[in-house]
Amino acid sequence: MILEWKRTSLTLRHPFTIARGSKSTTDTFFVKLSTNDLAGIGEAAPSTRYGENADLLEKILKFLTLDGAPFTDIFHIESIDEALRADSRLTPSLCAALNIACWDILGQIIGQPLYRLWGLDPGRMPVTSFTIAIDTPDVIRRKVREAEPYHILKVKQGLGNDRAIIEAIRAETDKPIRVDANEGWDRDEALTQIEWLAERNAEYVEQPLPADRLDDTHWLRERSPLPLIADESCLTSGDIPRIAGAFDGINIKLMKCGGLSEAMRMIHTARAHGLSIMLGCMVESSVAITAAAHLAPLVDYVDLDGHLLVTDDPYEGVTLEDGRLILPDRPGIGIRPRHLPLPG
Ligand code: MG
Repeated sequence: MILEWKRTSLTLRHPFTIARGSKSTTDTFFVKLSTNDLAGIGEAAPSTRYGENADLLEKILKFLTLDGAPFTDIFHIESIDEALRADSRLTPSLCAALNIACWDILGQIIGQPLYRLWGLDPGRMPVTSFTIAIDTPDVIRRKVREAEPYHILKVKQGLGNDRAIIEAIRAETDKPIRVDANEGWDRDEALTQIEWLAERNAEYVEQPLPADRLDDTHWLRERSPLPLIADESCLTSGDIPRIAGAFDGINIKLMKCGGLSEAMRMIHTARAHGLSIMLGCMVESSVAITAAAHLAPLVDYVDLDGHLLVTDDPYEGVTLEDGRLILPDRPGIGIRPRHLPLPG
């Protein structure tokens, strides 16, 4: 398989601040895998939370070749995925990019979009939430007005101004909110805040405590009036049995778990443990977002808005209609280059 790649910087519509830090641009990598006359596209959006950064990915990609038995037949996608996951050079987001590109090629060979290949009903797409990152109350109110087309807001918390943010949102709208603390609270603070949020039409709380505080999360879950969803506590299917008792659901992201194949394993493992499932993302382009969206008919909550947070997405794929993502009907992931207006 021939691997080509490109590093790109995407510009954020607003500076994106969460409990861990702030940024106004984000680096992402597009990979192209070619076999014979077909090419598949994938994307890696590195996350510093999981030990990645753009320079590291660039260093790895410069020396990466994909050869050996699993890579000669794209229909051996499970063996390819196994080989990628066993390759100690690769990080989760790079595995994700390559796995997405493989599925993109496979879909093109068969001539079907991925959701059809997997037997999924596109009529079962949950409504997607739109993320409001941490900011001053005035900016929050402006962002809430901009988010008018979305029926559900995902709100970032955990930097100390939590109640001011919620009050700013509630001054504008009574839409349901989903709250993400990104590990920003301690045990007692979390319980107090969750009890307060429960009275303000919040649906659930994502990762209230640091990932290494599993005992505290058990304690919190016994008392929390809202469901708790694991994000930083749950990277791959292997984490699910260990954390299942401390959370009500998990947030699956392609960049954390290493691609569509592992995301599918996570979905089935989570269901076997009675957990609800959210499908989330990093700040990503339409490539990774559209790839993930093909799995959305299998999940309960969708938070696939990373591509909407940037101004210069070089691709187009999923579209939005009445708050719901609409999957493209083209084979594979179904993305295509977007023709951006020329500057000036
Ligand atoms: Mg999260």
